[in-house]
Amino acid sequence: MNNFTFSTLQRQNYLAKLRQEEFDLLVIGGGITGAGIALDAATRGLKVALVEKKDFAWGTSSRSTKLIHGGLRYLKQLEIKLVREVGLERAIVHKNALHIVNAERMLLPIVQNGSLGKTMSALGLWVYDHLADVEKEERRRMLTKAETIQAEPLLRQDILKAGGLYYEYRTDDARLTIETLKSAVKEGAIALNYAQVIGFDFSNKNMAQAQIEDIRSHEKFNIKAKYIVNAAGPWVDTLRAIDEEGVKGKRLHLTKGVHIVVPREKLNLQQSAYFDIVADKRMCFAIPRLDVTYIGTTDTNYKENIDQPHATLEDVEYILKATNTMFPTANLTKEDVISTWAGLRPLIHQDGKSPSELSRKDEIFISKTGLISIAGGKLTGYRKMAERIVDLIAKKLNKKTSCKTESYALSGSNFKSSKDFDKFVNLRATSLKDLNVPPKMVIALAQRYGSNLDWIIEKAYEIAPQMNSGIEAFEMAEIMYAVQFEMVDSLSDFLIRRSGRLYFERPKVLDTYIQWASFLAEQLQWDTQRIKAEIAEFEVDLNLAMAWRNQSVSCSQSSL
Ligand code: FAD
Repeated sequence: MNNFTFSTLQRQNYLAKLRQEEFDLLVIGGGITGAGIALDAATRGLKVALVEKKDFAWGTSSRSTKLIHGGLRYLKQLEIKLVREVGLERAIVHKNALHIVNAERMLLPIVQNGSLGKTMSALGLWVYDHLADVEKEERRRMLTKAETIQAEPLLRQDILKAGGLYYEYRTDDARLTIETLKSAVKEGAIALNYAQVIGFDFSNKNMAQAQIEDIRSHEKFNIKAKYIVNAAGPWVDTLRAIDEEGVKGKRLHLTKGVHIVVPREKLNLQQSAYFDIVADKRMCFAIPRLDVTYIGTTDTNYKENIDQPHATLEDVEYILKATNTMFPTANLTKEDVISTWAGLRPLIHQDGKSPSELSRKDEIFISKTGLISIAGGKLTGYRKMAERIVDLIAKKLNKKTSCKTESYALSGSNFKSSKDFDKFVNLRATSLKDLNVPPKMVIALAQRYGSNLDWIIEKAYEIAPQMNSGIEAFEMAEIMYAVQFEMVDSLSDFLIRRSGRLYFERPKVLDTYIQWASFLAEQLQWDTQRIKAEIAEFEVDLNLAMAWRNQSVSCSQSSL
């Protein structure tokens, strides 16, 4: 059970502390990179503050493929060290977050003119297993053509040669970020969303300052910290540009990746698939999840508004074509697409390289003023990225410390093993019958909140007599948890990043978002004007996911 809060209702207290206290470290950016750094530093006893200009995980960390993976594709680019590091990290991230990082069986069909032949796929998967020290029961198994068809009857058969089965880990990127942040806060960090860094002052060598705008009140104030880390993902260079030194030397190269969501029955795969896009030798994931299957991704150069990447008609058509080529009987059309999301990869620019060739390695830049920036990398490698940054800062602070997160169970992951977690889920799903809550709903909540679900259950029982149904009691209890322990401050925070409902349950959300707004309003005491503004803001996100439908002209994917 929780013994700390991370509550929107305490916002003024957090603001007062940020104004008054002096920190060892200020982290800019509440994506997975910033959250990981805050947790690593807090567990080593550093005094840490973190600020995020919108909501936690609002940037790339809620828009990825949501896999904790070793990056099989990087093996093809001979990035052996990267594959080894992220491969090993997979197992650690899984062990530390058992409720949100689950083993996922992945089928790799081997096709004519695909990127890897039979021998190279078998060898690649073998190397992958060994580089990543994959557990015996999760090691790759090569399949004949007949076995591959049996594993996935929807596959196109005329070009199919064979297949491979291996394991990746599926996650919810935004929830991994919030659980990491909650853990950092539990360890003493102060983290605030809707607080944007708008300037720096490094004139005092012993104590830097960052100027912050509180996005809710538009008040400005300074945070004092010995060191400032810029973990702003795609905005890393935007922040470097407001530092006195500007963007010198290496710079970011942003590429956009899009996913589409279709109802599960339209592409009802037996397991996830990682398949060739024969037309351009790229690879694509199709991942069943709850009642939908999501498919992606693209990789195109991006030079537009960083704050609003979205899928275009061209992106959607590209993914549909690739999917229909590999799963022809699905015959997916634009009408089947119920949602999309688009994210930006904050990669490091390398002259002459195409988006897919750019390295996914992370790099640290230190400006002469003292601003430390980190970019590149992957969700999977976030813990190691954090370790590197905090090692550097600890050294500058003359502190002898070592990383403590390798065996650190994140908030909600209070389980000894996956089996222990499964037992928890089954027990909870069957023990709540008296509230008339469908087991499916309890399972989804358990996978979202892990052991923290017990707080929600307790609250649901407490408020049930005043609610219309057990389901409503659970929904209200979930909102209360989100406000008190996950800093939810807007309708989009809840429906997109805390619960993933916009992406995975869009049709249902269309009928329920007004009701969710009224639940939140009750908890956060919003007046009518704020409720209207929240609904309008959520509708922007809702429409952005389907904005591609308003485009009529399609053009070619030149940069793919
Ligand atoms: P972000 O998540 O973008 O966080 C940066 C934060 O900084 C943002 O929330 C932003 O609002 C905040 N910020 C910006 N400016 C300011 C300011 N002035 N003041 C305060 N805050 C500010 N990796 C994997 O391991 N597995 C995958 O399956 C995978 N799939 C991917 C698919 C796609 C399409 C993409 C684009 C990436 C994928 N990645 C994947 C990579 C991974 O998602 C990213 O590496 C990771 O999420 C980057 O996190 P970040 O914290 O660095 O950036």
